[in-house]
Amino acid sequence: MASNSYLIVGAGVFGVSTAYTLIRKYPNASVTIVDRDAYNADSRVAASWDWNKVIRADYDDIIYCRLALEAQDIFEQDPLYQPFFHKSGIYWMCRTDYATQVVENYRKLGRKAQIEAVSVKEARKLYGGLFEDADYSDVTEVLVNKTSGWANAGDALKAVTKKCIELGVKYVVAETQSLAFNGGRCTGIRMRKGDTLSADKIILSTGAFTAKLLEQAAKASNKPEISAGGRIIAGGITTGMTQLDEESYKRFANMPVAVQSWNPTIVSPTRDRELKWWGQKIFKNTQNILGKRISAPPPESDYAQWKVAAPLKEDIDFANNIFYGKNGANWKMEKHRICWDAFTSSSDFIISPHAGAEGLYVATCGSFHGYKFFPVLGKYVVQMLEGELEEELAWKWAWDRERPDERLNAEFPRWEMRDLMGKQARL
Ligand SMILES: Cc1cc2nc3c(=O)[nH]c(=O)nc-3n(C[C@H](O)[C@H](O)[C@H](O)COP(=O)(O)OP(=O)(O)OC[C@H]3O[C@@H](n4cnc5c(N)ncnc54)[C@H](O)[C@@H]3O)c2cc1C
Repeated sequence: MASNSYLIVGAGVFGVSTAYTLIRKYPNASVTIVDRDAYNADSRVAASWDWNKVIRADYDDIIYCRLALEAQDIFEQDPLYQPFFHKSGIYWMCRTDYATQVVENYRKLGRKAQIEAVSVKEARKLYGGLFEDADYSDVTEVLVNKTSGWANAGDALKAVTKKCIELGVKYVVAETQSLAFNGGRCTGIRMRKGDTLSADKIILSTGAFTAKLLEQAAKASNKPEISAGGRIIAGGITTGMTQLDEESYKRFANMPVAVQSWNPTIVSPTRDRELKWWGQKIFKNTQNILGKRISAPPPESDYAQWKVAAPLKEDIDFANNIFYGKNGANWKMEKHRICWDAFTSSSDFIISPHAGAEGLYVATCGSFHGYKFFPVLGKYVVQMLEGELEEELAWKWAWDRERPDERLNAEFPRWEMRDLMGKQARL
């Protein structure tokens, strides 16, 4: 059953995909997105706003493999997404049997693709020996999937948001400070400047800011049950870019996305000849928020994302070295950014009613892998809103469920940002 009004806080992939699904399903409904940044701003804090993101279905978890294939089909075929997708392939240096498991998942799902797990010896020769000098210590096999690739992430986000607005979605630029309640029901949001917006259903797709926002709402309304309570952790990672000269570009133009297990990744060159790297250190920023120790992005309105301390920049140099060794030694790294996302200890999303209030829903926690699902996230969020999510997904993405020990998750933020800032930055 449709509600008449929906308020979505956050215009990243979770929020925008939800708005797009709702407005097409219910053209007469009132659908409003509220975000601190304009959708076409030159700089945004959203993790989804980026030069590029990896689009792949290479998961050992068969559920995410299935959903990512569903999403990738839309990236390849839907005229709205298709201009932003590049099928460059992926080259993934695995230190477990990950590659074999991914190949097996494709087989179980009946999916035909140019995908294989190859030995290190064979892999070194591929792509004209582009990864010959990478660090292969402990690598057991390399996953090569020619059907994976990457997307111009920010451009795709902008295009889909624009489409939402054309279809009737309202886009409000404002910072949400808190939530409004009537008894046990969430009825709207309170914005920083004091105004309130109301709707039948309030959906939080606020990424890395979610735990902080819930804490602010819990305190302001005296409802401790609204807090995230350790379910959602803000994590940051450094990214950087290098622009290849014309000569090098010839060699790298057809480069696949490359991944070193666990974190360091390099995305194929953009049309501006830029390679994008992520470092290996994923960190929290634990701070005192209204008397509780909570990880959240820095308090600046731009999350201080462009202020990257020297030791964090070195993380990008490290990544360069383990892919290209001496070949990349002279590359100049630029455009360093700290990108913040919301994590759960299982790396599963939360797409669920919030157990603390009627009418309040959470749809976020991309856990550093959510972008690729952009074209299908809204479908599953709307199924959740309407109580139609298949049982397995409802359990996986639940607000309340048993969660694994974070120490078992290799990608979980382990560092504290303040310990990675270097002496000078801490003064
Ligand atoms: C460096 C990095 C690389 C990544 N690479 C990949 C990849 O290659 N492939 C992949 O699939 N995934 C990748 N991810 C993960 C992916 O980007 C995220 O999981 C996904 O984008 C999260 O989407 P979201 O909508 O939950 O949050 P976001 O995109 O962060 O959006 C949240 C929005 O909420 C708004 N907001 C927050 N608080 C408030 C408030 N109080 N008031 C108003 N607005 C608010 C913000 O302005 C923002 O626009 C990567 C993440 C990072 C950080």
